[in-house]
Amino acid sequence: MDIKYVQTTCPYCGTGCTLNLVVKDGKVVGTAPYHRSPVNEGKVCPKGTYAHEFVNREDRLSKPLIKKNGEFVEASWDEAYALIAEKFKGYKPSEMAVLSSARTSNEENYALMKFARGVLKTKHIDHCARLCHASTVAGLAAAFGSGAMTNSIGDIAESKCVFIIGSNTFEQHPLIGRRVMQAKKNGGKLIVFDPRYTPTAKQADLYASFYSGADVAIFNGLMGEIIRNGWEAKDWIAKRCDLERYEELKAKVLEPAYSLENVSKISGISVEDLKTAAEWIGTAESAAVLYSMGITQHTVGVDNVKSTANLQMLCGNIGIPGGGVNALRGQNNVQGACDMGALPVVFTGYQKVTDPAAHKKFEDAWGFPDGICPPENGYEVTIMINVLADNPGELKAMYIMGENPLLSDPDLTHVEKAFANLEFLVVQDIFLTETAELADVVLPATCYAEKNGTQTSTERRVQMWRKAQEPPGEAKVDWQIISEIAAKMGYAAQFPYQSAEDIFNEIAEVTPSYHGMNYERLNKPEALHWPCPDVDHPGTPILHCEKCAHPHGKGMFHALEWKPPAEVPDAEYPYILTTGRCIWHWHTGSMTRRSETLDNEVPTGWIEINTEDAKDLGIANKEMVRAITRRGEVEVPAMVTDDIKKGEMFMPFHFKECAANRLTNNALDPGAKIPEFKACAIKVEKIQEAE
Ligand code: SF4
Repeated sequence: MDIKYVQTTCPYCGTGCTLNLVVKDGKVVGTAPYHRSPVNEGKVCPKGTYAHEFVNREDRLSKPLIKKNGEFVEASWDEAYALIAEKFKGYKPSEMAVLSSARTSNEENYALMKFARGVLKTKHIDHCARLCHASTVAGLAAAFGSGAMTNSIGDIAESKCVFIIGSNTFEQHPLIGRRVMQAKKNGGKLIVFDPRYTPTAKQADLYASFYSGADVAIFNGLMGEIIRNGWEAKDWIAKRCDLERYEELKAKVLEPAYSLENVSKISGISVEDLKTAAEWIGTAESAAVLYSMGITQHTVGVDNVKSTANLQMLCGNIGIPGGGVNALRGQNNVQGACDMGALPVVFTGYQKVTDPAAHKKFEDAWGFPDGICPPENGYEVTIMINVLADNPGELKAMYIMGENPLLSDPDLTHVEKAFANLEFLVVQDIFLTETAELADVVLPATCYAEKNGTQTSTERRVQMWRKAQEPPGEAKVDWQIISEIAAKMGYAAQFPYQSAEDIFNEIAEVTPSYHGMNYERLNKPEALHWPCPDVDHPGTPILHCEKCAHPHGKGMFHALEWKPPAEVPDAEYPYILTTGRCIWHWHTGSMTRRSETLDNEVPTGWIEINTEDAKDLGIANKEMVRAITRRGEVEVPAMVTDDIKKGEMFMPFHFKECAANRLTNNALDPGAKIPEFKACAIKVEKIQEAE
């Protein structure tokens, strides 16, 4: 019996824990702790513990599939490539769109980004960051000049006050939750604001529930109180910030609309709790804000993110240990997929596609004899879906790698209508997902355990995946599939890669923030945080220490007005629905629902209903109910609990049989084009027995 341990990075959340895969006779059979990781020090959450269980499932895709007469038929790679190349060559660039993947490696995202812009010559490329942290990228870039988590995960343990809003950290990023507990142990205070009394909230020194969508009002209220008490960091602001912007902010937050009494009415948080939170944040030696999709997934997502930056600049908590704006990114490599330019407005390292110099740089570096896509912004995924649904014929073909919009995107009826209008769909994945079922061609790809590569965690740490076993059947690594399609379409010279490392070296060449990285440097437990501009640079765990990343170096405040969600409760739909995840499952469940242990723990979804609301509705715990919004309805078991605010309801979105996104609203933030998953109006009905 041959047993070996292969050190790799967890494929689930953006924390980026390192673990060992246990490989027996060439097959991954378990996980084991890897103690030298500075991120998780040998600990993992349940998803990491069982990250091996889906790897060798019998339903892994192992051969290309081509749909003929409505049925999938196994095909050779040559047949699949020939069909794809023929079809793609038949469309104009503007008729094709590409979705890259936050689940795959940096190298694969880079290869697909290059394929979209260089081979298909389309400007329409995006990925699921649009659905989780597009507002972070836009909001933090506007405030600081760089759209990423400012501090490191380990640094959170140093904080004297941790303010968590819009994040159920202990369930979604459990190993970051561990650092929060270390901060508490070190004497730091923990404030949690959340509509639900989550496991995170249960650890708080100060917890307050609030109505989803009140965030800007809450931040303005806190900042007004801090300024009225003189707790703002006057010297820091004078030295580090644009002062005109500061005066605008000050005037705004001191308006009567943001008095604590008024903010209390908007948010449902008591004046006393708002005062306490303002004092703890305003007087702490260091305070860290942690947020996630409770902040970002709103029609005012960018404003919410800018508000977190406002508060932290006001208190001088930027560029210091234990401080920062810590946007906890969702998927394992959503940071990396953004860094790799799998977005419609940037090349790698956020070099703008509309910048003529950046466009020329990539055109020259890639050497496509017939050029690349024009220097114009493309469609975001949410806009792609709208265009497909509302303007049939404008977009005709799509290539999707490792994404599942048929469960992850809002208003699924609308998404289904959109996909029905596609002429040709290629899906590359490891399982036959809800989206793959609609494809014309399905390409079997490899999972994290079957390839080398890198991923970039939420703290901008670039870490390695290491191959532990061979892929199933004829499945191939994603970058190899992309390169082979490119070759079939006449661009073999532009995709000459023999390994993931070859691609990484090209990434480092064209990406200033990755320029000093290479596999030798990354192949260490601590890896490297970007920016890492040259090979002698140690990486940058904390951003903006001396100045912000804007060319002028100043932090930019934004005076913001609170606006309610796009859809608020009314007589017909009297409750607020918010959505999220649970600790046992991940995203659309394509991997966790195929992991026996995780699926046994939580085999289906639910809707959380406040005990008083349930009494009013005559609904008992565990009873099947009908949840209805203006967009659709689902039948789902009720979970009656005091752990959710009266008037609010919550559903996890992992479960296709009671899909929360059948109900959610696809109203978008006007800048980031992120949908408002976190607030819409809902009603719930008993299911009558006679039905
Ligand atoms: Fe994996 Fe995230 Fe859990 Fe760490 S915290 S083991 S990265 S899912």
